[in-house]
Amino acid sequence: MLKNLLKPLVIVLLALEACVVATTVNVQAISRTPTPTWGHWQSVTITYRCNSTSAYYRSVWSQAIKQWNRTGAVKLRAVKAGHKADIVLTSAQTIRQSDAVAGYTNYTYYHKAQGNRIVAAKSILDRGILTHYGYTKSQRANVAAHELGHALGLGHSKAKNSVMNASNRYAMVSPQDKLAVQGAYAHRR
Ligand SMILES: [Zn+2]
Repeated sequence: MLKNLLKPLVIVLLALEACVVATTVNVQAISRTPTPTWGHWQSVTITYRCNSTSAYYRSVWSQAIKQWNRTGAVKLRAVKAGHKADIVLTSAQTIRQSDAVAGYTNYTYYHKAQGNRIVAAKSILDRGILTHYGYTKSQRANVAAHELGHALGLGHSKAKNSVMNASNRYAMVSPQDKLAVQGAYAHRR
């Protein structure tokens, strides 16, 4: 029934993580640039399943989840056994042949005038790229947090200190990222 009220829109987004360029971040230049949002889940409680078989990458994803849960704006919870997760998290040795991207997220959403409603998302980390470019574990967690940001409805920020900067490696979820997710989920419980 609900489906009839919504215009199914196909999707697929591509998060072009050109994290291959290691730029230096000036942490003193705190940017006020708002982080853009393009959608949200129906509830602030969003389930995930981590499919990575690597304990190391499960830990990387766990750190990224904590970054977003600390905002208080969303509640990312591991899905219960036997249930379908909203967001699937994983890693692969190589996720794309042609582009050197550190991570990738695709998702499905319903187009709605008051804000697109996300109904499925999958985020993947490229282990080969992250290792080749010498990412530390916390930097990998920042890339994971970036991908998770896409899965939560955030777009790319031009601010260097935003986790949603397209080439982010050094930034964690920042105050302007927190504001963005608070805004996108302000009227949901
Ligand atoms: Zn991205």
